[in-house]
Amino acid sequence: MALKYLIAKPSDWIIMQVTTQAGKAVQQVNEYDVFLDVDFDALRFSGKVRIDISSTGDISLDAVDLEVASVKTNDRNVPFKQHGNVVDIQTGRFSGTLEVEYKGKVSESLTGFYKAPYGDKYVLTTHFEAGHARRLLPCIDHPAYKADFKLTVRTRSDLSVISNMPVESERKEGNTKTVAFQKTPKMSTYLLYLGIGRFEEDKNRHNKTELYTASVVRPDGKIKTGLAFEAAQKSLEFYEKYFGIPYDLPKLHLIAVPEFAYGAMENWGAITFREILLHADKDTSTSTKKSIAEVVAHEIAHMWFGDLVTMKWWDDLWLNESFATFMAYKVVDWAYPQWKIWQDFVKNSTGGAMARDALNSTHPIEAKVRSPEEIEELFDEISYGKGASILRMIEAYIGPDKFQKGVSKYLQQFRYSNASGSDLWNHLQQASGLDVSHVMEGWIGKVGYPVVKASLSSGKLVLEQERFLLSGARDKQTWPIPVTIAVDGRTQQLMLDKERAEITVADPKSLKLNIDRTGFYRIDYRGPVLQSLVWASKLSGLDRYGLANDAWAFLNSGRISWKEYQGLLERFFDEEDYLPAFEVSERITNLFLIAPKKVADLSRRYHKSQLKILEGKRDENSSLLRGTIAARLAILDDAYAHEAGAKFKDLAAVEPDMKRSVIVGYARSSNDHDGLIDRYKKSTTDEDRLRYLEGLASFKRSDLVRKVQEFAMAGNVKRQDIGRGLLQFATSNPDAHAVTWEWFRDNIGKLDKMYEGTATLSAYMRAYVSIIGVGRVGEIEKLFGEHRLAGADATLERLKIHDRLANEITKS
Ligand SMILES: [Zn+2]
Repeated sequence: MALKYLIAKPSDWIIMQVTTQAGKAVQQVNEYDVFLDVDFDALRFSGKVRIDISSTGDISLDAVDLEVASVKTNDRNVPFKQHGNVVDIQTGRFSGTLEVEYKGKVSESLTGFYKAPYGDKYVLTTHFEAGHARRLLPCIDHPAYKADFKLTVRTRSDLSVISNMPVESERKEGNTKTVAFQKTPKMSTYLLYLGIGRFEEDKNRHNKTELYTASVVRPDGKIKTGLAFEAAQKSLEFYEKYFGIPYDLPKLHLIAVPEFAYGAMENWGAITFREILLHADKDTSTSTKKSIAEVVAHEIAHMWFGDLVTMKWWDDLWLNESFATFMAYKVVDWAYPQWKIWQDFVKNSTGGAMARDALNSTHPIEAKVRSPEEIEELFDEISYGKGASILRMIEAYIGPDKFQKGVSKYLQQFRYSNASGSDLWNHLQQASGLDVSHVMEGWIGKVGYPVVKASLSSGKLVLEQERFLLSGARDKQTWPIPVTIAVDGRTQQLMLDKERAEITVADPKSLKLNIDRTGFYRIDYRGPVLQSLVWASKLSGLDRYGLANDAWAFLNSGRISWKEYQGLLERFFDEEDYLPAFEVSERITNLFLIAPKKVADLSRRYHKSQLKILEGKRDENSSLLRGTIAARLAILDDAYAHEAGAKFKDLAAVEPDMKRSVIVGYARSSNDHDGLIDRYKKSTTDEDRLRYLEGLASFKRSDLVRKVQEFAMAGNVKRQDIGRGLLQFATSNPDAHAVTWEWFRDNIGKLDKMYEGTATLSAYMRAYVSIIGVGRVGEIEKLFGEHRLAGADATLERLKIHDRLANEITKS
């Protein structure tokens, strides 16, 4: 799956013994032959599944919200008992075909077989990862129980039906039609897909593979999928060569789903996306274009890594996700070199994971899970970003050719089957002759990451490592760190796997560590002499990003003071590089949001100076950054809001990256609630809807923001856009923090229900409630005491860090 903001459960990570209730005695499932009769209008279905299965004892199947009517074998009834989410069938030792008849309803949440509305219409679509296939059919819902799927669907004849494989036959009878799909190769249950609705398709191809995009038909326009097609073709071309294995299915669908909890999902041959991730036209911003390319490449990487070869159990979920994350950046860097996309990798994947992993309530990359809820909570920055960063570190350590060779051999060996992390290390080790397992195991089984303290002492550079924690606590632990060092421009590598190491350095003129931010660790340079040597070095944009990002973390953990941090910021006021300039903008904005009064001047000064620097630059990254800087300035500066807002009447002529700032400026200078609501309602793309939503959350008058929140909760805003969207935008507007907190508190039950079965709410809480909650710690503790919510601990931990920092700044 693809997503950006998630959080993990801080609770104990218990050794997995029971995977699901079902499957205990089952040795093998060969095939599911599924017939579904779907009443599209009444939102009901009845099903008959013939399961070719062998077992050493009674068979248990997973089934959630399904009503099983009968179980038969060879036309004879078999006794069964349905309790909780399990169907126990008294087969005894068994080998043959079980026929299960059942009924179910279309799900109200965004998982299982659910209704995705658009306007007054809807499509039905599935989202099964991790444990939701059991909401459509009784099955052994476990990734290691791979089987062939043969799917046949009867429904209204005017609707399209899409699944993993091409249609084998279609038969019409009056108002209904029966569509039979070709049999899939062996695959895991979570990868099955079914979509029903008025989909419109575009067609393309890559070599022998038929490529389709599918989106819902609306009166006001159609999704424009040119960029998505191009990204898909580039991805297929790249991976077929890199892995040495052709894409395995005859066709590949990219499906735009109107409501979707996550960003995208890698159902084999039928990948689903949010609409915003498939649509690009002349009004599309650079950041959305980058997301389209990256997410398409991510999902297509899963066609091999995840779908063809699957993890044995969810504790190796990270392997799927970090690998797809890492590979996607390779593809995008090759296909769209102008974006210099590895900078975004370091900022989003590595940076996001380092922020997350410095909390006490983190988890190891390889987490032990046993329940479906715990699995959901694993879709977070650790599984995606930290894992991907460690893979990048390993690739740098063994070399890209050997890395590719090991990966390709691993995929060859385990195709149509399951594997674990150690299987991959073994192949990387064989390909490289280096001790990959030692390094990997030093990182994946353990929480957190190190800070390396560097100091100079009588001609020696002394390096000492310990765990880095935002709480400021000290924890003596060691990791195997491939430290890179440049002394007077000469680079060397040192494997620091003990607490302390020394290197002789004779009177250097310049010195820096963790060159280009390739390592997953921070550097704490001690003492003014060493610090001046660092700044005397030739520093790349990535290096300066690293210095800014480490300083931010040290400010949060109390390692450096607010005063020291301000001193460092001064070095970045004339920053010309995309990545460090962006990083500093993010951090000053974070500070402004937790201590608006004290930080507004600083933030205004920085954003004005950046806007000037970016004025003359024409490359896409500069354009993206300029758009972000301008939108932030529109919140900070009334005069600028007025100036930007004046362009609102001719918004169509404004370049795509700048539209946000014009809408935010207009909202703040006009308070035109009704006008913006009207524009919101008339928008035809997700991206425009989000732009107006940002305007609507940016009013200076908080009562108007509250009105928008009510409007959203009344079903006028896509559920997917309420968290990452409305809540996110209101968090960026300090004038709206108080009403947003009240809204969140009053709607917590509804929000929890809205995102049920996904880890999205906990992600939103950690990202946004930890900011709007500053100054309200007691109230938030009270709320979390009354409502048990996954992710509450991490949210509180981060909130308390922000609260402490806000106090320090306010008192200064
Ligand atoms: Zn993924």
